[in-house]
Amino acid sequence: MPLKSFIDVASDSRFPLENLPFGVFKPRNGAARVGVAIGEYVVDLSVLEEKGLLDLPPGTAAATTQDRHLFAQDSLNAFLTLGRPAWRKAREVLQNLLAANTPTLRDDAKLRERVFHRQGDVTMQLPARIGDYTDFYSSYHHAHNVGTMLRGPENALMPNWKWLPVAYHGRASSIVVSGTEVRRPQGQTKPPDATAPVFGPTKSFDYELEMAFLIGPPNALGQPVPIARAIDHIFGFVLMNDWSARDIQAWEYQPLGPFLAKNFCTSISPWVVTLEALEPFRKALAPQDPEPLPYLRLTNDFTYDIHLEANLRSASMELPHVITRTNLQNLYWSVSQQLAHHTVGGCNLQPGDLLASGTISGPSEESRGCMLELTWRGANPLKLPNGETRKWLEDGDTLKITGWCDGDGYRIGFGEVSGQIVPT
Ligand code: CA
Repeated sequence: MPLKSFIDVASDSRFPLENLPFGVFKPRNGAARVGVAIGEYVVDLSVLEEKGLLDLPPGTAAATTQDRHLFAQDSLNAFLTLGRPAWRKAREVLQNLLAANTPTLRDDAKLRERVFHRQGDVTMQLPARIGDYTDFYSSYHHAHNVGTMLRGPENALMPNWKWLPVAYHGRASSIVVSGTEVRRPQGQTKPPDATAPVFGPTKSFDYELEMAFLIGPPNALGQPVPIARAIDHIFGFVLMNDWSARDIQAWEYQPLGPFLAKNFCTSISPWVVTLEALEPFRKALAPQDPEPLPYLRLTNDFTYDIHLEANLRSASMELPHVITRTNLQNLYWSVSQQLAHHTVGGCNLQPGDLLASGTISGPSEESRGCMLELTWRGANPLKLPNGETRKWLEDGDTLKITGWCDGDGYRIGFGEVSGQIVPT
């Protein structure tokens, strides 16, 4: 049975009481602060905190030093640092405060006025100060398709791919929140028949459908996180679009991997869906062959059943057209394996760090998570419903990614990450 709130939550809303994703919002008049989404509203946690309605467990840092200042902040970082007992407690308190039979807020019109904002009246910001960002490459089908295009099917996967979760360290400063325009980057490319590179706007602008998780409590430098404890460091998930310039990438990527092809912009959704909200959607991770090394083995390792879609709307289309349908379960490596591997050499993760999945492609053609795969490097252009075709994204195109989990009578949604491409 779905939980019931005194707030009107439409039956098709993706923000029911079971979800309560965290984000940072700015009301029309006032500074940015932390909120959770319910139905069409944002709940202002800084007001609940000020009123003493959001007390966190004794023993957490918040309870002793800064409990009045966790949420009157323009990032989730202070809250992220506290870890799972505080996150669980905050969720429990909020679900109770918003429940249909709890009078505290329900019957206090004056307080409600301060606490609830319509989502349409606020501006969402990045949920965290992201100090470091890493992008994995964890979909077998994505890696295999890309490898096939570059090296042929015999050598599609590098010999390391099934032994470790391949990744690169990305650029945190150019991560933007959904809705931010994305400028077509310029750079060096080398046409196949040319003897020297040329400079100019990318001619193969791409998206990558990904998810990413935010790090909570840190680990100390030199102290790897054992895989069984990895989940303690993960707060929740956002949607991500790792915008990519394939022609720039093709010329620059050897020997050290992506650089300017990826660092000009990365978009994420503003709402962070917590692992607590995702708990009912856990699924067993598919068996891995070869069996990973011991530090990457977790008994009952898991993933989540999260439906993911990307849609494209050109400047002359009225309605968006779905071009990718996939699921988080298409990833080969789990988040616990990614985190354990990231830290095994002693690398310290910090609250607010963002670790992304890599493009989430599955086995079917419609589950391919980027234009590179969908059009097979431009060989099979996409046909849009209005007669336009696309080898790559064009100026004026808007690319939107959505995600959700289907529960028993409710849906846990991630909102969206969207961006429109503007000329160089
Ligand atoms: Ca990527």
